[in-house]
Amino acid sequence: MTEWFAETLHKDVAQSLRMDRVLFRERTGLQELVIFENARFGRVLALDGAVQTTEGDEFVYHEMMAHVPILAHGAVKRVLIVGGGDGGLLRRCLLHPGVETVTMVEIDRGVIDLCVKYLPGLSAGAFDDARAEVVIADGARFVAETDRRFDVILVDSTDPQGPGEVLFTAAFYADCKRCLTPGGILVTQNGVPFLQPDEVRHSAEHLGQSFAVVTFYMAVVPTYFGGIMTLGWATDEAQYSRLTATDLSPRFAAAGLQTRYYTPELHVGAFALPAFIKALCQGA
Ligand code: SAM
Repeated sequence: MTEWFAETLHKDVAQSLRMDRVLFRERTGLQELVIFENARFGRVLALDGAVQTTEGDEFVYHEMMAHVPILAHGAVKRVLIVGGGDGGLLRRCLLHPGVETVTMVEIDRGVIDLCVKYLPGLSAGAFDDARAEVVIADGARFVAETDRRFDVILVDSTDPQGPGEVLFTAAFYADCKRCLTPGGILVTQNGVPFLQPDEVRHSAEHLGQSFAVVTFYMAVVPTYFGGIMTLGWATDEAQYSRLTATDLSPRFAAAGLQTRYYTPELHVGAFALPAFIKALCQGA
């Protein structure tokens, strides 16, 4: 009898993926972790009832979360990733020749170990890169206590439930601000506004308490069910928002990136928000 993975993230709608083969299913110390194979999306990682990433569409999210801030900034040397245990974002950050260190603060060692074992294509050796540093800790505690500074902070978190909940608070964002170098950029995993409007409302409000420029940009990730997915963008530097594809194209070429989703034109277009998301940013 074929088994299906039905998400439990939303109370009134759910996506299901056929589980053609279950590779791992267990509670780590912190989260319910399932890794299974699906004919359409390849291997799938789910945590606490929500799809986190799949071999089939991970490129969309990881390219947009890494390349948009790093190419906009133009001189990133030190990156902090909070979460991101599957390693797909780490790999994309390390593709940038100017990046000197990427520090990943991941709360659950089990996610890293199991993704390296069952989803090796996502990190593809990134954890062995001399520029990669893994810290097993709560990301909120790390940014509250560290005296290190970063040019870009990427919050590749789960949804605001379980251990991920603290990564959507004003206090966490204020600590991220403290850990950014001048002109630094914070990017957050900010959900699917059609189904999780409060994530945009609350992040816009909480980020606005610490940053001068707060907006969102979009990506369409098929297995992040519910339409457009938003990534939070927070910085004090307004000039990034005026970058054009003409500005970004030489940076993209110089980095020598091979992408399947990101383009300089899409980078600019991704910030052109639909009216309902703009309204959510104003608290509607
Ligand atoms: N791309 C996915 C998404 O958009 O939902 C996120 C993928 S990644 C697997 C999410 C990671 O966040 C998990 O490995 C989880 O263990 C980690 N995480 C959750 N809460 C955390 C916290 N407070 N500090 C550090 N890592 C955390």
